[in-house]
Amino acid sequence: MTNVSAKTIRDTVEELCVKAIEILPRDVLSALQRAMEEESNPLSKDILGVILDNARLAAHEKIPICQDTGMTYVFVELGQDIAIEDGYLYDAISQGVARAYVRGFLRKSVVSDPLFDRKNTGDNTPPVIHTEIVPGDEVKITVMPKGTGSENMSAVRMLTPGDGIEGVRRFVMEVVEKSGPNACPPLIVGVGIGGMMDKAAYLAKKALLREIGSSNPDPRVAAFEKELVSAINGLGIGPGGLGGATTCLAVHIETYPTHIGALPVAVNLQCHAARRASAVIRSEKRVLL
Ligand code: SF4
Repeated sequence: MTNVSAKTIRDTVEELCVKAIEILPRDVLSALQRAMEEESNPLSKDILGVILDNARLAAHEKIPICQDTGMTYVFVELGQDIAIEDGYLYDAISQGVARAYVRGFLRKSVVSDPLFDRKNTGDNTPPVIHTEIVPGDEVKITVMPKGTGSENMSAVRMLTPGDGIEGVRRFVMEVVEKSGPNACPPLIVGVGIGGMMDKAAYLAKKALLREIGSSNPDPRVAAFEKELVSAINGLGIGPGGLGGATTCLAVHIETYPTHIGALPVAVNLQCHAARRASAVIRSEKRVLL
């Protein structure tokens, strides 16, 4: 059994929140750069240039990439041979989020309950935490500050097996088309297919963590991803919703077995501020990825 202290978890989450909010991952920057070079529409080219300049400036000046610093998603891959000492894992994660947002003067966007008071909690907590138990004695933490513009345009639909791949295609296209400029394109489109309703939604969110340029390991799914990228970019929504060939940078599909009577599909849209940061902790040593 390897021990990891709650304090190490807290400090790591704090560091990852700040990093994610200020620095776009390399794969996202490269995809935006490639899109700018390939765009023939001058206005779309300009908008992609502005998005890239904004990202570079944010990293250089250590300021947020976007004013919406999001609700904080924390994905934990917890090795089964790890013991967390001196505290509860979820408290440590929440404390890390609170420290990052309060100390960093980041916009706090979380309200206490969704229906009645809607009172700002003041420190961007609670985060949404997803935990998977994995083999080994490491813990991997990924922080994703998720803005609401793209989240509000996301959707889940319970298709039936008879709808098949054609039904999935229609649903994905419908969600992206309806989002227009509201999701701040160019997008990354996360698609979760299978399980039941909740699992499909989780898979769609998790799909957004994949590096741009990666493909689903199943060649049939990978081919479907490529086909959807072409179809979505054919919609002409373009960067900022002002037209052009780059409505999405990638489509990532994740699948899971499902019931004989079901075909749940979730589409989670991610705007161009595709922020995420990860670290691996083993014993008390942490490596930022
Ligand atoms: S959708 Fe993304 S880019 Fe648009 S305001 Fe929200 S966080 Fe910012």
